[in-house]
Amino acid sequence: MEPHTEATLVPPLAAVPLPRDPTGPALTPPAGHATSTSDRGAFCLAVCTCGWRGPARRSRDLARKDATGHTSE
Ligand SMILES: [Zn+2]
Repeated sequence: MEPHTEATLVPPLAAVPLPRDPTGPALTPPAGHATSTSDRGAFCLAVCTCGWRGPARRSRDLARKDATGHTSE
């Protein structure tokens, strides 16, 4: 029987590059603006995928107009 030879050296985990940078472009918001309306109790406000929010309105139509004004800027 051949004696057990020394195991081959494995590089430490830190030396292995990550397949993707976790701080990469995945965190950036999508291009463009996609608005929708959101109800807050008796009020309605426009929200956008970019993080923008319109003022609280009593009318959903007004909230939609706020959203339209935001996307047309
Ligand atoms: Zn926006």
